[in-house]
Amino acid sequence: MSVMWTVKVVGLGVVALSLSVELVGWLLHRLRPKRTRNEVLFFPSKMACINHIFAPSSPQLCFCPLPHGVETSFSRLLRCILSASSSLDLCVFSFSNMDLSRAVLTLYSRGVTIRVLTDKDYAAITGTQIGVLRKAGICVRCDVDSVYMHHKFSVVDNRLLITGSLNWTRTAVQSNMENVIVTEDPDLVRPFIKEFQKLWLHNDPARYPYSSDPKPAHKATTPRTDKP
Ligand SMILES: [Zn+2]
Repeated sequence: MSVMWTVKVVGLGVVALSLSVELVGWLLHRLRPKRTRNEVLFFPSKMACINHIFAPSSPQLCFCPLPHGVETSFSRLLRCILSASSSLDLCVFSFSNMDLSRAVLTLYSRGVTIRVLTDKDYAAITGTQIGVLRKAGICVRCDVDSVYMHHKFSVVDNRLLITGSLNWTRTAVQSNMENVIVTEDPDLVRPFIKEFQKLWLHNDPARYPYSSDPKPAHKATTPRTDKP
């Protein structure tokens, strides 16, 4: 009898101990601070095929001459942008990169809400993708102030900030020395959401019925010091 009791007590003890270990593990997991995503990308980016990024679920054979299966700064950037599931707010000075345009159009076709804010002068330069986006039905607003709208940031799903020196141009991606920070830190994301909203409302065409006029001539002739 006493042996039976001993076995039962030991058995219960083992069960209790294992449950305690499980509970402690679960509590530690819940209490552990969640890691926020932080990433830094430098450009120019190596050249590599990015076609598979647009259709990861059904990768197709690609016979283009670029290297395949290579992760680059640009492929990382594209993945961040294409991670959008509900919204993409883009505030960029110059937008002529066709791969980035393809990414925005892909998101739009998936039902992601897109808002693009850009510089009015650079919305009309040769090779710009702004007209392509507008033609597709994407909401684009151009700044109406006499100074450059020189930002280069985007916010994905109101949670992921992509910001840095990089204009959305092929030159910036393939030739220039540029930097991009990708972060989910709410303390950094929040002010950018607020700034975008402020600029978006400020540049509402309904507030400026004659906003299709070009900017003051002095702005267009101001010597430029950067190479977007
Ligand atoms: Zn390829």
